[in-house]
Amino acid sequence: MSVLGLARPDIRALEPYSSARMEAGAAAVLLNANESPWPPADDGGLGLNRYPDPQPAALVDALAAQFGVGRDLILVGRGSDEAIDLLTRAFCRAGEDAVVVMPPTFGMYAVCARIQGARVVEVPLDEDFAVDATALEAVAAQGVKLVYVCSPNNPSGGLVPRELIARWATALAGRALLVVDEAYIEFAGAPSCADLLGRHENLAILRTLSKAWSLAGARIGVLMASPEIVALLRRIMPPYPLPTPSIRAALATLSPAGRTRMAEQVAAIVRERDRVAGRLQATPGVTRVLPSRANFIAFRHRDAARAYAHLAAHDVLLRDIGRYRGLAGCLRLSIGLPEHNERALALLAGLAEAT
Ligand SMILES: *Cc1c(COP(=O)(O)O)cnc(C)c1O
Repeated sequence: MSVLGLARPDIRALEPYSSARMEAGAAAVLLNANESPWPPADDGGLGLNRYPDPQPAALVDALAAQFGVGRDLILVGRGSDEAIDLLTRAFCRAGEDAVVVMPPTFGMYAVCARIQGARVVEVPLDEDFAVDATALEAVAAQGVKLVYVCSPNNPSGGLVPRELIARWATALAGRALLVVDEAYIEFAGAPSCADLLGRHENLAILRTLSKAWSLAGARIGVLMASPEIVALLRRIMPPYPLPTPSIRAALATLSPAGRTRMAEQVAAIVRERDRVAGRLQATPGVTRVLPSRANFIAFRHRDAARAYAHLAAHDVLLRDIGRYRGLAGCLRLSIGLPEHNERALALLAGLAEAT
């Protein structure tokens, strides 16, 4: 079966909305979209009176070059969150289909599934927070349309072996789409799975400019998948997903200067992550530090609630991840500026002394 055969039949048959910008791109005189002919005051030359290109060619090309795939495999949206939402709506029939998630993991996979009325099947990570290779093959039976793998995983930080992803894509062919979320891959010191796309039409990869690329506020996420999937999702995507200022910010970030800056900052974060992990290991009250391939560290604290409150009272926020499966008593620290990481470490050390 072609991968499109897995999508909802009603979505495949849907007549999409056709926007003015889709029907006709650029011309000297634009009288086709009910826009204002005047830019707003102080728009810095952005031309905000005009609707943006739905998938700007320059941005798609820059992302395709950066991620090493063909441009027809790229769909740009408002963060990878939008891609997760679109995949769920395109592939899962309410009340019938299911998604597989591997907790503890990113919450949006299950949230989007529940909004859509799809079942959520859990294949928990093992006690070392590694994926359970065999359990997946057992559950990915009838009705499972999407299987989410987060690598490196948020919030536990581990990387999923490429060999396993290739094997799962093969095992799921004709049955389900394997969605690999690589939001943190830049920090992993390991290659993306993008090169596997050519071999597996049921593989989709999510990337984002929100983390390593410093653009969380611009909301630029990327889905890489077979051109059929990209075309299908474009049918249900809102007509103008990308705000003009975000397009401009993304292009600047992907420029040669922006790429150099990103590489330097990622190297600095990785060094700092490994330093902070060592310091946490030696902090009284910290009972476990999970090895991380991302830009955060999850750790268990003997009194996590008190540690969280103590840091918050001193204006330092960590994330309480104690509600995630297998992470009771755990906190997550996103690697920040060295002086801010130091402040968190000092407060944790001070907490132990006060006990
Ligand atoms: C932060 C994060 C994202 C990115 O979301 P955006 O919508 O692109 O900002 C995606 N997946 C995971 C696992 C994340 O932690």
